[in-house]
Amino acid sequence: MNEFSLIDVFFKSKALSRNDVVFGIGDDAACVTVPPDKQLVISTDSLVAEVHFLSSWDPYDIAYKAVMVNVSDIAAMAAEPCWVSLALTLPELNNLWLTRFSQGLDDALQQFGIALIGGDTTRGPLTITLTIHGLVPAGKALRRSGAKPGDKIYVSGELGAAALAVSYLHGLVIDEADQPELMNKLQRPRTRVDLASILQTYASAAIDISDGLSADLNHLCVASQVGASLFMSAIPVHSLAKKYQQTKAIDFALTGGDDYELCFTLPAEKEAQLIASLNEIGLSCYAIGVVEAEKGLAVVNDDGKRSPLEPRGYSHF
Ligand code: ADP
Ligand code: MG
Repeated sequence: MNEFSLIDVFFKSKALSRNDVVFGIGDDAACVTVPPDKQLVISTDSLVAEVHFLSSWDPYDIAYKAVMVNVSDIAAMAAEPCWVSLALTLPELNNLWLTRFSQGLDDALQQFGIALIGGDTTRGPLTITLTIHGLVPAGKALRRSGAKPGDKIYVSGELGAAALAVSYLHGLVIDEADQPELMNKLQRPRTRVDLASILQTYASAAIDISDGLSADLNHLCVASQVGASLFMSAIPVHSLAKKYQQTKAIDFALTGGDDYELCFTLPAEKEAQLIASLNEIGLSCYAIGVVEAEKGLAVVNDDGKRSPLEPRGYSHF
C-alpha cells in the first residue's frame, strides 16, 4: 500500500456524501456549494501525539477526539458543521491502526452529517490536523467580543472531568469502576452543536472551553473589553472531580482544559426565554456569573466575599 491507495481505502471510499459537495477527495482541492443566505465558518485544530493524546490510545479515540475538538469550535460560533479536511502525519503505515482510526473518524463525522472532503497524508511524528467548515445564517456567527456589562454568564455542562482524566494518566488512583466514564470525558468529549440555534437567538458572546473555564472566559472578556464575576457555588463541578479531588475539585473546573463545554453570555432580559427554549429541547445549562464593566475576573463566595481570579489554563508555550 502507498499514500494513494491508503487514501482510497481508508478515507475516500468511506466519506459520507452530501448534496452540497460538488466534488471531494481526488482533485487538487474540494468544491462545495454554499447557500446564498449562509456564511462559511472555518477553523483548524491539530492534535499532536504525547501533547493532546497518547500514541498508545486506541486510534478510534484519537480520531474521535480530533473530530470533537474541531466540531466544538464550530459549535462555539453557533454554526452547523458540514465538511472537514484531514491532514494526517503518520510515523509508519499500519493497516490495523488506520482501520481503527478511520472507524473513529467515520463514526464521529456521521453523528453530525459531516463529509470528509480532502486532506493531506505525510510521514512524520503522529499528528492529526482537521480543518472544519461550517455554515451559519448570514450575520449570525457568534463571536467572543459581544459580551456587555450586566450580561449573564452560562456554561453548558459540568467541568473538571477531562482534567481529572489527565491526572489519572499521570498516576492519580481512580477506582476501576470510574475509569471508563472518566476516560470517556477526555477521549470522547460531547460537543454542544445542539445549542447552535438557541445561541444564535439569545447569546451575545461565546467560547468553547478547551483550555480551562478561567482562561477561556478571560479570552471572551478581553475580546469584549469587559470583566466577569463568577459565583463560586454555581460553578458546575463534575461529580468525579468532587469525588477524587474534594476541595481541589473547583480548581479542576476553573483551570482544567479539554471539557469542550460552551461558555456563553446573554442579556439578563433574555434569560427567562433562554431557559424556556432550553427546557423545550430538554437541555440544561448553568448560570455561573455576570459580566462586569470593570476588567478582570473575580469569584464571589457564598457570604458575598469577592476575590480576584487569576485566569489559568493550558498554554503550549
Ligand atoms: P496534492 O498532491 O495535489 O496535494 P494529494 O496527493 O496530497 O494531492 O491528495 C490526493 C487527494 O486525496 C486530494 O484530493 C486530497 O485532498 C486527498 N487526501 C489526501 N490525504 C487525505 C486524507 N488523509 N484524508 C482525506 N483526503 C485526503
Ligand atoms: Mg498533498
